[in-house]
Amino acid sequence: MRVNNTYSDLAPSFYETNHPKGFPSASKIIFNNDLISELGLGFNDNELLNIFSGNKNFPNSNPISLAYSGHQFGYFNPTLGDGRAHLIAEIDADDKEHYDVQLKGSGQTKFSRRGDGLSSLGPVIREYIVSEAMHFLGVPTTRALSAVRTNESVYREEELPGGVFTRLAKSHLRVGSFEYFYSRQEFDALSNLVEYAMKRHYPATKAPMEFFKAVAKNKISLVNKWLGIGFIHGVMNTDNTSIAGITIDYGPCAFMDEYNDDKVFSSIDRHGRYRYNQQIDIAFWNLSVLANAIFPVLLKDKAEDILIAELKQFFKELETEAEHLWLSTFSKKIGLAQPINEDRELIKELLNYMQKEKLDFTNTFRSLNTLSFQNKNWEKKWLARIEDKEASIELMNSVNPYIIPRNHQVEKAIEEAIAGKDDLFLRLVEAYKKPYEEDKDNEDLTHEPAPDERVYQTFCGT
Ligand code: AMP
Ligand code: MG
Repeated sequence: MRVNNTYSDLAPSFYETNHPKGFPSASKIIFNNDLISELGLGFNDNELLNIFSGNKNFPNSNPISLAYSGHQFGYFNPTLGDGRAHLIAEIDADDKEHYDVQLKGSGQTKFSRRGDGLSSLGPVIREYIVSEAMHFLGVPTTRALSAVRTNESVYREEELPGGVFTRLAKSHLRVGSFEYFYSRQEFDALSNLVEYAMKRHYPATKAPMEFFKAVAKNKISLVNKWLGIGFIHGVMNTDNTSIAGITIDYGPCAFMDEYNDDKVFSSIDRHGRYRYNQQIDIAFWNLSVLANAIFPVLLKDKAEDILIAELKQFFKELETEAEHLWLSTFSKKIGLAQPINEDRELIKELLNYMQKEKLDFTNTFRSLNTLSFQNKNWEKKWLARIEDKEASIELMNSVNPYIIPRNHQVEKAIEEAIAGKDDLFLRLVEAYKKPYEEDKDNEDLTHEPAPDERVYQTFCGT
């Protein structure tokens, strides 16, 4: 592992050099030891605690906080940025990848606006559980490195214990990072950022337009993966939209229990802008914001009318690709490796039935590995499409998880951690490491919530 401060190549207005506040009484909840050793971080537990609570600098690194803008629920906000986060190091890790290591809840920065720069324990526990689960489910994401208690209070509507979460990301560049320079009309800095992002994330691309197309394809592929496991991000604002094709910023995110294509959990998503089945459309919307933000850079290579025609054509093709991806994802979920167009209807029929009968998304798909289904009419049509039973079962078991982080379990783990008990949290983290394997020891965690356990709303809790 080697520290490598590449953000310092970018315009100074893009970041603030600063220091985490530090929490002298912090204590460990969990360190992701497997990941820490894969990266080759090579610190002992005491050093890790000091680094992950912001008490000591990561050796050879200058902590910074990044600036960004963003469209939040459709409205542009020019001044967001890391208001409670410190990028404590960029590393060339032992796995040959380049990463950002970031503390969240580590104190105020230039970008805090009216916020206290802190995090309560709830969001720390949620992001740890869900981002790691996403990784093991096979969805590109930021990873969790550590969760610590600050042993200091945070004041929200009530007094809560504070925490610091440490995450690892391919980068923290977002659509909003590009909007930041665009809105300030700093076009040279914008151009540098595009070049930087190309080199860092899409080294095979040669021109900004190719870069844009690669980002777009990655984004659509990512959101399609979310759909396949019933994940609802909850705040798909452009400032929470990575350009590296990873899931980033776990706020009020949630997995659905019973299938409902309009499902919304987030308390702040009052009009359902980010509901389950609108996530692809929103990804397109966010990509159009990115195209707009980097337009001055794209214009360097091509005339405006040619550029607009190319983008229009590209978006049309991307829509077709998104439809193919959806079909491919969901046909695998019913055991069909080679979908034909008619399978789209077959899948929709199943989903409509699941919605009408309020069937659990995860368990219903997983149970198809019995090659039977309660709706016999649908079962007959489905089985007629299956040629090789063994192969279909194997395929289904590889894409239909046995276990996912259910909201009621996550909420229970948060409640217990707030009360000082980490057993359930630690158990969930372990249980979600092999989501496609049937594990009778964790069977209780696969149950749908009882009526009194149901979670109807999730909160950012920031
Ligand atoms: P989010 O909704 O988590 O994506 O955050 C949106 C913006 O609000 C980002 O610029 C955050 O850094 C900022 N923010 C959220 N919570 C806090 C906080 N407690 N203190 C300072 N800034 C915050
Ligand atoms: Mg955010």
